[in-house]
Amino acid sequence: MEIIIIGASFAGLAAAVEARKTYPQANICLIDQEKEVGFFPNAFNWRMKNRISTWEEATCQLYEEVVASDIELLLETRFLSLSHEENVIQISQNGQVKSLSFDYLILAMGSCQVWEYQSQDSRERMLSCKSKREALSAFEKVATAKKISVIGAGQIGLETIDALSEYPIELQLIESQEWPLAKYFDQEMTEFILEELDRRNIKTYFGQTVNRLGIEDGSLVCETYEESIQADFGLLATNFRPNSQFLQGQLELDPDGCLVVDAFLETSRPGVFAVGDLIRLPFAFFGQAYLPMINHAILTGRLAVANLQEKKRPLKDVVRIVSSRIFGVNMTSVGLTEKEAQLWLDTDVVRIQQPYSQWDKEKLDFKLVLSQTDGRLLGGQLISKSDHLAQMNQLAFAIQQGLRIEDLLQQSWLCLPQQTALVPILIEAANYYYHDRRRREGDL
Ligand SMILES: Cc1cc2nc3c(=O)[nH]c(=O)nc-3n(C[C@H](O)[C@H](O)[C@H](O)COP(=O)(O)OP(=O)(O)OC[C@H]3O[C@@H](n4cnc5c(N)ncnc54)[C@H](O)[C@@H]3O)c2cc1C
Repeated sequence: MEIIIIGASFAGLAAAVEARKTYPQANICLIDQEKEVGFFPNAFNWRMKNRISTWEEATCQLYEEVVASDIELLLETRFLSLSHEENVIQISQNGQVKSLSFDYLILAMGSCQVWEYQSQDSRERMLSCKSKREALSAFEKVATAKKISVIGAGQIGLETIDALSEYPIELQLIESQEWPLAKYFDQEMTEFILEELDRRNIKTYFGQTVNRLGIEDGSLVCETYEESIQADFGLLATNFRPNSQFLQGQLELDPDGCLVVDAFLETSRPGVFAVGDLIRLPFAFFGQAYLPMINHAILTGRLAVANLQEKKRPLKDVVRIVSSRIFGVNMTSVGLTEKEAQLWLDTDVVRIQQPYSQWDKEKLDFKLVLSQTDGRLLGGQLISKSDHLAQMNQLAFAIQQGLRIEDLLQQSWLCLPQQTALVPILIEAANYYYHDRRRREGDL
């Protein structure tokens, strides 16, 4: 059996490792256009913050597993097209076009950050850092920069601002939403970020959309409807688009460029699967959503392999879980924000701000979002000094299972080690809500 996987990042590497385990006799070929693969996209920020001292420290474990396995890895090799009738792809390697045939093809070409550049000059002034090649180039450019504009105050933009603010560089942050991390946190949870941006003298432009990038008087200019914002370099922390355009006409695409797949990740062509940042995922209430994240890439890469020969394991609704470390605190969001949930349901929220817990003297800010009609858990947002990702994962699981607040109080998972400050907070939030609700309903 010939399995070809295109793209050796999280989704492709996960698929290759899984395929090696599942089909010991198969020939597995993993193809990528880059010379070096398997790097975390956060490598640039980690280097800037001196969290790592060499780029190799940002290599993901899956890459090591691929190298140690019997998998053919073709780097600096570009996937060009898929034949219309036969199970054959065309690739370009060392300037030559070749054909390879397959029994199963897994597309894992991921996404890129896109912008319609007016000129090559403005393109060269933009920093990006997804691949190691881009991160190296960004690292060199930053060393010469006096002023940088970061476009997008989401997770990537804020982590980058945090890293860059440790250097003597004037920073500006431009964001079309009214507050930072607006996709994952409700506004009141992010007030401390505004204070911190102010404290670090970072100029902010919230509620402004960059609609043109150009060069004027030797500077990069980010134009919004209100202003022209000048800098030496810009960093695009927004606008992910699936790398799928060249498959138009060969496979069915959504209007946003995502490859259409069934519940088993098979595309419109039998035997051809798509995973990672190339596809939309089933997402509670939204139906389908584009959620370009590492954990989704790994999950779908593995799942596609399980379904190659027989459609066995459908992809279930995912619960979004996003975690960042910004300005020295951990910010974790699971499920829906209050603003998102209100699009479909009447909601209740409980917010508990605990200045210091008795366990580790840390500050916690936690918000739980629930359905008003039945107390179903919809989402949670946590800001904390220490890492409570394991507990937030449990909350994500509870949301995925459709649990209500009563179930939460009865579940044994709340008997997690009490030393972690989050668990009593969660119990307090659940108890508060449960009793308040019963009081409102006249039971108490
Ligand atoms: C700066 C930054 C920080 C991020 N931080 C986080 C984070 O903290 N947590 C998180 O969950 N997500 C994060 N993300 C998102 C995350 O990187 C993506 O969701 C994830 O990398 C998707 O994995 P993938 O394997 O689907 O695709 P990609 O990582 O996009 O990889 C696709 C691969 O396919 C190759 N390829 C593309 N086209 C071709 C072709 N025609 N021929 C051959 N090869 C091709 C590319 O070279 C690439 O190696 C971040 C993204 C960026 C840019």
